[in-house]
Amino acid sequence: MKDRLSKWLIVGLTSLLLLHPARANDPNPAQKSMGLLRKTTLALLQEGNERFVCGALKHPNTDQSHRSLAALEGQEPFVTVLSCSDSRVPVELIFDRGVGEIFTVRVAGNVADTDEIATIEYGVGHLHTPVVIVMGHSRCGAVTAVVKDVELEGLLPQLVDNIKPAAELAKHEGGEESVVIANAIKANVWQSISDLLRRSAIVRTEIEAGGVNVIGAIYNLETGTVDWLGEHPDQKNILGTYKPEGKPVATIPDAVAPHGPAPGFQIPNAPVKKSPSVASAEHSENSEHSAHAH
Ligand SMILES: [Zn+2]
Repeated sequence: MKDRLSKWLIVGLTSLLLLHPARANDPNPAQKSMGLLRKTTLALLQEGNERFVCGALKHPNTDQSHRSLAALEGQEPFVTVLSCSDSRVPVELIFDRGVGEIFTVRVAGNVADTDEIATIEYGVGHLHTPVVIVMGHSRCGAVTAVVKDVELEGLLPQLVDNIKPAAELAKHEGGEESVVIANAIKANVWQSISDLLRRSAIVRTEIEAGGVNVIGAIYNLETGTVDWLGEHPDQKNILGTYKPEGKPVATIPDAVAPHGPAPGFQIPNAPVKKSPSVASAEHSENSEHSAHAH
């Protein structure tokens, strides 16, 4: 059976270690391995997005031989992504990745309610993806509907209930409607991450152990680019507030439970940051193909 960690480490080591030779005071091997996996994951996604933006898709690992191999040996995704169901946000295309590489959860408004969190727990706990990305997108209809207080039918109110705290926060901040919607979309990414961290002891435990990073992102429909937001700005406080077994140390106000913001939750004012510098796309792709060939 292939070893997923080894496979992605091959990619990481060949694309990154050569650029950063080991030093005597480096972290221990386990920490270094996970750090490399995370850098490799972000590098692969950023490189794929750059190909998507400039119309140079490679469609890696989508041929018959790869599909057959994946079918026989099982899935070994290297990232879990929670994104919106919007048909303009095709995750594998946006990152130009192939079959069995991205464990994807798509739901209107990229909310993190029970089923979404459980699916992410499978990606983290069973498939051991070193990164979870919660990705909102510009012009999100679900978030816009909540900001505009659109009356929704059927079961939709139960879904958008998850978005309301972010929408209310953005409206409280004020500004033109387009600004409020953009702020709500960003706040909704933080809300979903906050809901995930507060409700999932599995994810919290993996973060504390250094096994996974949860990162926010926003996809721009017009340009095709992805803005990387980094970790939740209040992650440390959230992890400190909720014990691994899932019970909060502090009391959650009834008015905001179970979907309300975590203590200290607010729209961060920090500017959007790009992901860490990555190895060249050519080198990583070549290394990756050689890894898959074995
Ligand atoms: Zn959307």
